[in-house]
Formats: sequence, C-alpha cells, structure tokens
Amino acid sequence: MTYQGNLKKMKVVLNNPVEYTLELGEDKIHMNDLIGKEILFKYDGVINCKICGRKIKKTFGEGFCYEHFINHPANSECIIRPELCEGHLGKGRDPEWELENHVQPHVVYLAIASGLKVGVTRGTQVPTRWIDQGAWKAIRLAEVPNRFMAGQIEVALKDHISDKTHWQKMLKNELADHLDIIEEKQKMQAFIPDELSQYYSSNDEIVEISYPALQFPTKVKSLSFDKLPEVGGKLEGIKGQYLIFDEGRVINLRKFTGYFVELVV
Ligand SMILES: [Zn+2]
Ligand SMILES: [Zn+2]
Repeated sequence: MTYQGNLKKMKVVLNNPVEYTLELGEDKIHMNDLIGKEILFKYDGVINCKICGRKIKKTFGEGFCYEHFINHPANSECIIRPELCEGHLGKGRDPEWELENHVQPHVVYLAIASGLKVGVTRGTQVPTRWIDQGAWKAIRLAEVPNRFMAGQIEVALKDHISDKTHWQKMLKNELADHLDIIEEKQKMQAFIPDELSQYYSSNDEIVEISYPALQFPTKVKSLSFDKLPEVGGKLEGIKGQYLIFDEGRVINLRKFTGYFVELVV
C-alpha cells in the first residue's frame, strides 16, 4: 500500500498500549499495526505550511511558513513561555484566539518521561500532551483557569524541578523508577506561590502510559528528512511522537510537520 500527504502529529488514544494514527491525505493509518514490519517514507522536497498550505522551502517552528511563524497566534511566545501569556488581559497576537485557547482551564502537571519534569497544558490536552512527550507516569499538580496562572506556577517550580524531557533517555526507556510521583507532588506543593495555592489539585490519579514497542533501543540515532530523502526500515516501536526503527534509528515525525511524504507499507 502507498499513502501520501503532509505529515502532522500522530493522533493518540490512551489505551494499553497507546494507539497511534497517522493521517496522510484522506487516509488514517493505524501505526500500531505496522510494528514489526518494514515501512518506508519517501520525501522529495515539497513542504506545505500547516496554516496556509503554501509551498515553502523550509519550515519555521513546526510546520509554519515564515509569515505565519512571525504572525500566527499558534506560534506566540506564550506557547513556549506560558508565563508571558496576556490572553487573560484581552491582549496577545490575536486576542480572540487567546480567549478560545489560553483563557481556558489549564493543568500544571508532573511527568516522568526520563527524569521528573513539570509542564503546562490546556485541560483538554490531557493526556494527549503526556503521550506526545513520551511520559511514563503523570499526575496533575494544579488546575487553573488560564494559561498565565499555569505559567506562574511553572516558573516558581523551575528552580526545583526540570521542565525538559531528555528525549534520548526517553526513547531508551531509561525511567526514573525510584521516584514516587505522589511524594514529589506533595513536595512541589510548597513551591506554588501563595496567591495560587488554592489551585493545587486534589486529583491524585497517576496516569500510567505504555507504548507499543517490540523493544527500546540501547543507543539512538536521530534521522532527518532534510538529510535523507528516504527513511524507513523495520518499525520496532513508537513513543512520544517518535517512530523507532531497527538499529536505534529514530525520527521525530512532529518535527517534520508539513513535509509532503509518501508512505509505503
Ligand atoms: Zn503559512
Ligand atoms: Zn497566550
């Protein structure tokens, strides 16, 4: 079978293991079914902006043309740095977009992908965000009415906990399994600023996530369509938004959003 279309983030469903669907053109490909099989992606240099669809030579950010990278609200600074969000003040690149997307319930969470980290996401993105990061365990730390407040809490915690995922360790499935995530949550409560302490989450549900994989690599080599027009091999697993091929070769599909590819299975 051959499919073609612009790459975008795989859709995920929290199941045991996570189910991944890649949409290419009109087709929906259930990626779990391809694990253990030979697959091949072909890319011949066409990229389309994920906002306007225009043909571009290179992407800025994840799948934006330069103009949309500079102007589109989905690439505002408050995406990466929630503490800068001005949506709750009726401001931002596009105040209406802010109202719909950032002046909405947000969750500050703790997750273990490799080590323990803190993160922020919109309430509706739980558990999608956790899966996209390849988290093994996650728990809500605080539930707040908007992105700005979530950012305030995250910033206050940054001296005590990382906000980064070490993607290589994550792919090697090196998990900090000595950590008690509930205990860590209780520790972090002390660092929530007083004026936001009322938003500490009483929801102690630990979401455990398992990923479809025959095995995880012991060393990883990252592949790029910018260097290789063909990427493929035996698909050994999927974690986060990474496809894991034989010999520890991995590709972060999300990074190539907008790349027009052909998938042969
Ligand atoms: Zn564009
Ligand atoms: Zn914002």
